[in-house]
Amino acid sequence: MNCVFCKIAQGQIPAVAVYEDAEVMAFLDVNPIEKGHVLVVPRQHYEVIMDAPEAVLQQVTCVVRKVACALMKSGATGVNVQQNNYPAAGQVVPHLHFHVIPRYGQDAPRSWASGAGRYAFDAERDLYAQRIKEGMKP
Ligand code: AMP
Ligand code: ZN
Repeated sequence: MNCVFCKIAQGQIPAVAVYEDAEVMAFLDVNPIEKGHVLVVPRQHYEVIMDAPEAVLQQVTCVVRKVACALMKSGATGVNVQQNNYPAAGQVVPHLHFHVIPRYGQDAPRSWASGAGRYAFDAERDLYAQRIKEGMKP
């Protein structure tokens, strides 16, 4: 498969790894938002979080936590965890990955505009809540 993160996970192209086990790999982002910006990926290819089995997500998020703890120990004052699914949400590499981004100041800019999706009416808000609850039904 022509996937850059599969190639990194299989050792076919280089990356600066900070953690590896049989299922999960964590490596430095080549175009970091902050120094120490890490990507955590399952070695197996899943495009988006919705495709990955829960067991895989548990392994991946445990490594996300390990990396976040290590970043805090090494001088970060905060950590953002971000995960994009599909181009509509800003995903560029179509292999599931979590960004773990250290922050070193006191007030890093938020990457989204709070309030931009404000509801016109309470009924509209309730409709969104209802749709989400419906979507969780098996
Ligand atoms: P996303 O927009 O969530 O798909 O983010 C993809 C991330 O992958 C970006 O932050 C890129 O800088 C990063 N990236 C792309 N290619 C590589 C690579 N070969 N090694 C490390 N990071 C990469
Ligand atoms: Zn892949």
